[in-house]
Amino acid sequence: AIPLVSLIATTKGARAGILVKNKLALETARKIDVVLFDKTGTLTEGRQGVVDVVAMDGADVEEITRLAAATEASSEHPIAAAIVRYAREAGLTVPPASGFRSLSGRGAEATVEGRTVTVASARVLTERGILLSPELVNSGRDHSAGGQTVVYVLADGSVLGLVALADVIRPESVQAVARLSARGVRVAMLTGDSREVGNWVAKELGISEVFAEILPGDKAGVVKQLQRDGSTVAMVGDGVNDAPALTQADVGIAIGAGTDVAIESAGIVLATSDPRAVDDILTLSRATYRKEL
Ligand code: ADP
Ligand code: MG
Repeated sequence: AIPLVSLIATTKGARAGILVKNKLALETARKIDVVLFDKTGTLTEGRQGVVDVVAMDGADVEEITRLAAATEASSEHPIAAAIVRYAREAGLTVPPASGFRSLSGRGAEATVEGRTVTVASARVLTERGILLSPELVNSGRDHSAGGQTVVYVLADGSVLGLVALADVIRPESVQAVARLSARGVRVAMLTGDSREVGNWVAKELGISEVFAEILPGDKAGVVKQLQRDGSTVAMVGDGVNDAPALTQADVGIAIGAGTDVAIESAGIVLATSDPRAVDDILTLSRATYRKEL
């Protein structure tokens, strides 16, 4: 998905898996004070898998899975793909859905078997004034505290249960953070996921600053705020929802395995999808533009 035509890769950079699309980005990289990493697909592999489906009293795990999969069948989100895959692997027949709509960055909704089915984050429930049973609150909290993403499944506004999904932290991410911190660069994480999951991943990686529950439209705003505070900001991301933040950042860096939109919006692409290459970009920039410092 990398547009080869627009690449101006330096030999050194190419060897380290760094594809420079915009020379100004490489030049600016030596001045970076803050590196903002997206969580899902950037610090993690972004290959979510369903690990648990919890049903409320009176609801049924298979029905929750079927309805959730039907609703998510039209969504391109990794969570959606994981739920659909899980239902198929369980041998369930996924019914057709109509009137699909994406609750941008928060969930999905559709009509299934005459009912409005919603699969969404806790935030949507709060916004709609929907209360969870203490049982489900506890279950959700247990999963989130262990770094698992939790989405709730509703039919006509009543909560049926939850689906918990696990992702895997990229093994290279710990070093990627440690190297940047060692040079005195401030490292922060940006995610649309819940505060609990954000904090869990950050703790695993030694990141002390987390911007969580950030809606897709607000990611660029976080970058802008840091810039207003006087920082030169690098944003590293992979998703469609990271594109505006990648454009806004002084240096936008896309994960090579990321979406086309992210790659188009970035000045530099990490061909190997290895976040340690961010530190190599700083080194390369300093070596290339040393004379002008
Ligand atoms: P990130 O910033 O970590 O890449 P996103 O902004 O893509 O995460 O998603 C943030 C949260 O919104 C998810 O953790 C999930 O709770 C919810 N969400 C987004 N899209 C969907 C969907 N299609 N189905 C269910 N939940 C979703
Ligand atoms: Mg992402």
